[in-house]
Order: sequence, then C-alpha cells, then structure tokens
Amino acid sequence: MCNCASEVEAKAKEKIATQLPDGAQSLTVELQGMAMILGKTLETKNKLNLHVEYQASKRGGGFKTVKQDLSMIGSYCMFCGEKYPEVA
Ligand SMILES: [Zn+2]
Repeated sequence: MCNCASEVEAKAKEKIATQLPDGAQSLTVELQGMAMILGKTLETKNKLNLHVEYQASKRGGGFKTVKQDLSMIGSYCMFCGEKYPEVA
C-alpha cells in the first residue's frame, strides 16, 4: 500500500514552515479526513463523511428530525490512484 498520506502531510508541513511569520513555533500539520483501518496491519484510507437527515413520523403525530453521520471509505488512494488492499 502506498504511503501518500504521510508523504503529503510531511511535504505540506515543510512548505508551510517556510511561510510562517518570524518567531512562530510548535507547528503541527495533520491531514484530516483519513480513517485508520485495522486489518492485518494498520492502514490509512481516504474517508468522506456522509450526513443523513430526514423527518420521521412520531407515534402521537407530527414529525421529528433524525440525523445520522456515516463514514464512507475510499477504495483508491486520492493522491496516486493506487487501489487499497481489501481489509482482511
Ligand atoms: Zn497513494
């Protein structure tokens, strides 16, 4: 499996560090929207959040808003296009 996420993170940190104002310190850069998947090894995959919302009818009449947040894991690396291995 490719190592794009950590490479992109490292390159972003390197570039951003050169653009900080004088005296800035303790820079942290974290690529968010990735999921840690534990299979045979620990893998990082692209993740999108799927927000679901609908009106459900209530027993006594009327409706209530139901909200759910789900995650969708990508099948391919969004940086290099390599197919992710199947989770064991
Ligand atoms: Zn990749």
